[in-house]
Amino acid sequence: MTLLTQEHELARRTAREFAEKYVEPVARKMDRENYYPREVIREAGKLGLLTPTVSPEYGGGGGDLRTAVVVLEELGRVSGGFSLLVEAYGILFADALNNFATKRQKEEVLSKVAAGEKIGAFALSEPCCGSDAAAIQTQAEKRGGEWVINGTKMWITNGLYADYYLVAARTGPREARHRAITLFLLPRSKCIEASPIEVMGVRGTGTAELKLSDCRAGDDDVVGKVNGGWEVLTTTLNIGRTAVAAVAVGVARGAYEEALSWARNRELFGRRLVEFQNTQFELAEMLAAIETARTLTYYSAYLYDTKSPHFVLMTHVAKLQSARIAVDVARRAVQIEGGFGYSKESKAEMFYRDAKILEIGEGTNEVMKYVIYKLIEKGSFH
Ligand SMILES: Cc1cc2nc3c(=O)[nH]c(=O)nc-3n(C[C@H](O)[C@H](O)[C@H](O)COP(=O)(O)OP(=O)(O)OC[C@H]3O[C@@H](n4cnc5c(N)ncnc54)[C@H](O)[C@@H]3O)c2cc1C
Repeated sequence: MTLLTQEHELARRTAREFAEKYVEPVARKMDRENYYPREVIREAGKLGLLTPTVSPEYGGGGGDLRTAVVVLEELGRVSGGFSLLVEAYGILFADALNNFATKRQKEEVLSKVAAGEKIGAFALSEPCCGSDAAAIQTQAEKRGGEWVINGTKMWITNGLYADYYLVAARTGPREARHRAITLFLLPRSKCIEASPIEVMGVRGTGTAELKLSDCRAGDDDVVGKVNGGWEVLTTTLNIGRTAVAAVAVGVARGAYEEALSWARNRELFGRRLVEFQNTQFELAEMLAAIETARTLTYYSAYLYDTKSPHFVLMTHVAKLQSARIAVDVARRAVQIEGGFGYSKESKAEMFYRDAKILEIGEGTNEVMKYVIYKLIEKGSFH
């Protein structure tokens, strides 16, 4: 079984060259100054790297999930922030539209988003509810033939700069939970107030709180079906979890490469740090963990691309393990660098902070385990 083909390796090469030419120069600025790399996003759009899975008809890369995975991995190796920004943009927003939007919505919005001319954000989480997404409180009410939407969204990546929002709202009683949620495609307008949120890692990704006050939408702004939002959300988040696992693989690789280079150059006790067996064992542990995460992530994407029912289990396994591995590898990288690793000069320090969100965003480690256990109960493991 070949998990990756020549086409995937070609996409990897393009993404790596792009990451080194365009992302590397802004990675520290994103982190230190919370700088949102608008111009780099536009450049990524020109190469189809922003929306690798979106149909070429709408300006996307036309690739499968493995294509997206190798792109995100290469971006993450240079900047966890840039990779996560692209993941939220290209998978949570654009791939969801690619799979569920109407032709008009795709023609009007998706082409501009794929080109990087307009920014898209996926707005599900709220102050009340992240893990318990079925309890969201943002309300969409039908008044005089149109929808009127009110509520607050929280932690929205790209939210500060987005031109379009894919917003999940309640379209029925709270007790109906996931059966009364609908997704709306809303353009940025005065009814949406976006405020910045300062975060620990993945800085420069435009994380925002959104206040929606009497936003108006028509039936033709619904993505998927009225009260059918849960299907859009679960499909999109299942794909997103493998994509986040790919970000994690990239972040882990970035941290590992930093540590290896440091260990080869640092001298102490009359030897290079890399000559101590403990350092060699640490680097070996890191590499073994990265290859484990990588294999899981590629395998999960392969299962999606080949329409295997085993994908749902594996996307949760890949996300859980890869996120944990990214945090652990980055922690070890900081340790190898000693005091330097704890300083703001160190890239390992940045990767360590970037890695942590991967255990929280798009479902925490605990939510991954909750879903995996539910699948065990259903007899999904064989
Ligand atoms: C930087 C950043 C970017 C983000 N980007 C986006 C975005 O673009 N769009 C979007 O919609 N959201 C986004 N999020 C939100 C993210 O998905 C949520 O933060 C996440 O799902 C967790 O939700 P919560 O913060 O409400 O935590 P909670 O759900 O309140 O969880 C708190 C704790 O309880 C644990 N827990 C939850 N359920 C259980 C259980 N059943 N058993 C035991 N423990 C449990 C959790 O694991 C966690 O440790 C982002 C968050 C951050 C920080």
